[in-house]
Amino acid sequence: MSEFRTDNIKWDQYFMGIAMLSAMRSKDPSTQVGACIVNENKKIVGIGYNGFPSGISDNDLPWGKSENPLESKYLYVCHSEMNAILNSTQNLKNCTLYVTLFPCNECAKIVIQSGIKKVIYASDKHSDTDAVKASKKMFELAKIDYLPYEKLSDFNKEITLTV
Ligand code: ZN
Repeated sequence: MSEFRTDNIKWDQYFMGIAMLSAMRSKDPSTQVGACIVNENKKIVGIGYNGFPSGISDNDLPWGKSENPLESKYLYVCHSEMNAILNSTQNLKNCTLYVTLFPCNECAKIVIQSGIKKVIYASDKHSDTDAVKASKKMFELAKIDYLPYEKLSDFNKEITLTV
């Protein structure tokens, strides 16, 4: 029997890697976020990144931040989790969401309603915001597990791609 490679990327690296690659599609100048949803058979059933709603040109709405909410991106951008869920190819009951940034409260609600049962996140840099505190409260009440990617045994592999 021939020997097989053991330095291949592991499942968690594969799925978070796809979330990170998806984030690179984002046009947002300050925050690029990617998401990858995986079912119980380790099949990818949805991917997404943050961007304006379908059919709206990236020139038609502001990408920056302003004191006028209508001149800021926040009211317009669809987050990666929302896009991954809406792009999904199957019912998401008991699926796992890999996401590069901890979900905001609006995405947390969509995650819960979709049936996703577990969230693995790479960054929690907005943990002190009310939005993320509300997300965690709702995840706990709805019994959605969430854990940092760095807690997984294989997380620190550096990969170089030429695309
Ligand atoms: Zn969100």
